[in-house]
Amino acid sequence: MTRFGILKHRAKLQEQYLWTQVDFKSEGENDLSNKALKAATKLKGCGQFLLFHNYYTINQVKLAKAHYCSRHLLCPMCAGVRAAKSMSRYIQRIEELMRQNRHLKPVLITLTVKNGEDLQERFKHLRSSFRTLLDRYNDYKKKGRGFNQFCKIDGAFYSTEYTYNPKTKEWHPHIHIFALLNEWIDQEELAETWHDITLDSYIVDIRRVKKTKEHGYSKAVAEVCKYALKFSDLSLENTWEAYLSLKGNRLTGCFGSMYGVELPEKLTDDLPLDDLPYLELLYRFVFAKKSYYNLEITKDVKPK
Ligand SMILES: [Zn+2]
Repeated sequence: MTRFGILKHRAKLQEQYLWTQVDFKSEGENDLSNKALKAATKLKGCGQFLLFHNYYTINQVKLAKAHYCSRHLLCPMCAGVRAAKSMSRYIQRIEELMRQNRHLKPVLITLTVKNGEDLQERFKHLRSSFRTLLDRYNDYKKKGRGFNQFCKIDGAFYSTEYTYNPKTKEWHPHIHIFALLNEWIDQEELAETWHDITLDSYIVDIRRVKKTKEHGYSKAVAEVCKYALKFSDLSLENTWEAYLSLKGNRLTGCFGSMYGVELPEKLTDDLPLDDLPYLELLYRFVFAKKSYYNLEITKDVKPK
């Protein structure tokens, strides 16, 4: 509940910023103002109420109903919930693949392009460079020609992240990849390949991932599933700017043996199928200096 409160708090601040960007005198003539108005309205409704079911006989609490805005680049609430959902899907798939082939080596790979002020231009550059690398990968897998170090990946999933340096006013775009390798990658050689494609960056980082008793692979997976924008490091203004530049662009995906992992559309939990008694808990968001969710209604529901 605390986590939801923090996420929604930031969403609320973003919403308030957006209202200041709306020109109410423009009567719908100002395109940017219209976008801000639409986004603010969406954010306002997002996660205002959360309905939980507490299945006390099996000791599980599930999020049964919520209204989300689904603007993952703008709304920390939606980004946070989606990240958590995708994580569990990917972890499932990783463990499945590692059970089938114990020789797979899990690593985190980061690919970077040169920083720049124009986020959209940098995004397009990163995306097209990465596509070229993926095309070569797929070509090798299908036709067996054009080998490079990247082809040692058995399967992987990735996402893009953009950080901002307020001092230089430059965006730093990069791709995080969680990969299962058939063989260890020669980092220098991969850097050469990456530079051949990007023409502006040799930066390729590869780190081994160790499974821990407590967290399994979840920490490394979180590196990739975390948000495209680190909201806590960005001003409300930069977040809006980034949203306008990146909106509608695909930022995540999977390939090789990880291909086909479906990410959940639905951001609520799956409910137990059995007819179990539960407590229905309705929470309402309260915006304050320290925002929180207040429990408004409790209802005892017994199966018929
Ligand atoms: Zn939202």
